[in-house]
Amino acid sequence: MNCKKFYLIIYFLAFYSGIIWLFYRLNRSRQRILVFHHIIPDHLIDNSFEQKIVCSSKSHFERIIDIVNKRFEVTTQIGKANSAIITFDDGYRAALTADAVLSNYGNNAYFFLPLSNVNGGPLWNDKIMGWIAYVSPGEYIIAGKAYYLNSQSSRQKAYQDIIEYIRANDYNYSSIIEQLELITPFYKLAISEEYKNIRFRGLTQEDIIQIKQKGHKIGGHSINHDILSLLQPEKLKHDFQQCSAQINKLFNCGVYAYPYGHTRDVSIECVKECAASGFSAAVMNEYVPNETRHTLSRMKIGHYTSKYEIDAELSGFKQWLRNILRWKK
Ligand SMILES: [Zn+2]
Repeated sequence: MNCKKFYLIIYFLAFYSGIIWLFYRLNRSRQRILVFHHIIPDHLIDNSFEQKIVCSSKSHFERIIDIVNKRFEVTTQIGKANSAIITFDDGYRAALTADAVLSNYGNNAYFFLPLSNVNGGPLWNDKIMGWIAYVSPGEYIIAGKAYYLNSQSSRQKAYQDIIEYIRANDYNYSSIIEQLELITPFYKLAISEEYKNIRFRGLTQEDIIQIKQKGHKIGGHSINHDILSLLQPEKLKHDFQQCSAQINKLFNCGVYAYPYGHTRDVSIECVKECAASGFSAAVMNEYVPNETRHTLSRMKIGHYTSKYEIDAELSGFKQWLRNILRWKK
C-alpha cells in the first residue's frame, strides 16, 4: 500500500470514529484562512502540470466550498473565531469563475492582486510555467541546459529546475523569458483564446470594480510577484510603498499576501517592511506555528480530492498529525 492511500484510510477512520469532530471542537476558537489560485471552468481542465499545481476545476471548487460552508461561518473579518476566510492569489480573470461559485453561497472572499497584473498578464512566473506546460514536445536548451519536454512530469521537473536556476543566478528571470520567447513566442503556444483569457490575463479595472461591488475584498500581492526575499532592500521598500499607496484606492482593505508565501520567500525584512508600509495584516502560504498579525497561516486544500482529507485539514487533525510526525523524526 502506498503512503497516500495509507493516510486516506487514516482520515476515513478519523472521520467515522469522531476524531475529526473532536478536532473541530478543540480548534473552535481558531480561524481558517484558505488559499486558492485559479478556478477554471470544467471544460477547460486538461492534464497539464500547471493546472495540477495552481488550478482547481469549478465543480471541484464548488464541492470544497460546500463543505467549508457546512463547517464554518465564511467571513472576511480577520481573527473571528470558528470562521473561515476564502482567499485567491494573483488576480487573473479566473477570479470571475470563483465569484460565480461564491455568489451561490453568499460568500465574500479576498482577492490578492499583483499591481502589474491589472489589465495585463501573465506574470513572469506564469509566463515561464505556461511556456513549459504548453510548448510543443521536444528538446530545448534553456539557460545552457538541455530539457526534453515530452510528458507532464518532465515539464514539471524542468519548470522547477529553471525556477531554482533563477533563484541561484542573480534572480534574472527576464533573460530566461527572452530565451523562451526566441524559441517560441508566448502568443504562439497551443493555448486556446478562451483559456488564455481566464488563466493568463489579469483582471481589468472594470472586473475589479464589479468584484468590489459584490462585497469582496481586494488586497495587495506585490508589484510584479517577485520573490521578495531576493530583492535588494531599496527595491523591497519600494515594492511595499507602491502597494500600500493603493489601500483605499485599487484595494478596499489593508490586507496583503506575500508572493509564494513560504518561509524562504518571506524574510524578516519583508514582514517588517509590510507592517511599516501600512498593511494591517498579511498572510503566508503555509502553516505558521507562531503566527503574528503579519504572518498569518493559510491552508491549501484545493488539490484534495477526498472529502475525508478536506475535513482532516479543516479540522486541524492533519496539522496535528504533521506535528507529531515531525517531532518523532
Ligand atoms: Zn501569488
